[in-house]
Amino acid sequence: MKKIKTTSLILAVSLFFTGCMTDPDTTYREEGSEATTVIIVTEADPFDSLGEDIEVTILDDRIVEESCINGVDYTLTVDLSKWDGKTTREQLAECSRVFWYCYPRMYERFGVYADSPTDVILAVENEGYEIAEAWDNHVHIHDMWLSDNPGDYDCLTHEFAHVIQNGWDGDRLEYDSYIERFADYCRYIYAYDQGYYNDEIWDLQTVATESDRESSVRFLVWMDYAYSMGIKEEDLMLRFFRVCHDGSYEADDWDRAWEEIFKGTRAEGMTVDQVWQEYIESDFAYLDSHAERGQLSDLLSSYGIRDKIRGANEADYFE
Ligand SMILES: [Zn+2]
Repeated sequence: MKKIKTTSLILAVSLFFTGCMTDPDTTYREEGSEATTVIIVTEADPFDSLGEDIEVTILDDRIVEESCINGVDYTLTVDLSKWDGKTTREQLAECSRVFWYCYPRMYERFGVYADSPTDVILAVENEGYEIAEAWDNHVHIHDMWLSDNPGDYDCLTHEFAHVIQNGWDGDRLEYDSYIERFADYCRYIYAYDQGYYNDEIWDLQTVATESDRESSVRFLVWMDYAYSMGIKEEDLMLRFFRVCHDGSYEADDWDRAWEEIFKGTRAEGMTVDQVWQEYIESDFAYLDSHAERGQLSDLLSSYGIRDKIRGANEADYFE
């Protein structure tokens, strides 16, 4: 069943008539008026413009979006059963665009290995304490969040990254905080529209405030920039993802885990402490990541981080 609601916006321009329209579905023409020009503009539902390749089915309590990208069938279901309209319909459509922008790219790089879900549910719910959370193939965002924090779309990029992780076990990581650090690494690298919203409202902390591996998101971003070659076998972050997903090392055996992660990359033979040292000696660790909307931060002006990873994704992995 497909129901698409459209609203018509009617503009009446007349030298003689300046009345307002009250019925949006009716073209107004005043009796006896002369030289009346009536222009009808159809304003489509925001979900009509997600993209030609995305099939959208609009139901009363949910919106189902399907597309095949690089041979993989994805479905996003926007669950509106507990939506109270605080998140606008345009914002809901933008949330969908975030998914279609970031999820297939994260899936192609990491999710294939973890057999991550390709059928994802995004529930916009006016209940629950959490701003946003993820479990299995479900992502919840509170209906008030985007209403109160317009522009924070990339909290969803973070949640979608949790879906991609597909069940990392914190007890088998060097630090269980790597679960959150990786989701934030994805938030930065795969931020919607090259960080158009993200970089204005969410900072990649410098080494001054995230001063060790346990806390640092930027260290992951830097390792990716410095050491992931764009060739699958040498992709340091993919190797990091595999080790975290497999959980094959005890937390106190991560010297060996790092050895495996670095193997075959340019970091092979280095200890993780040496790699950290190299990081903190670079201005990469200190440059400001903040930018006004649509502008480039100092960090991105010096290092084309997202372009490099994007190029790696597209050029070498999947063709
Ligand atoms: Zn999280």
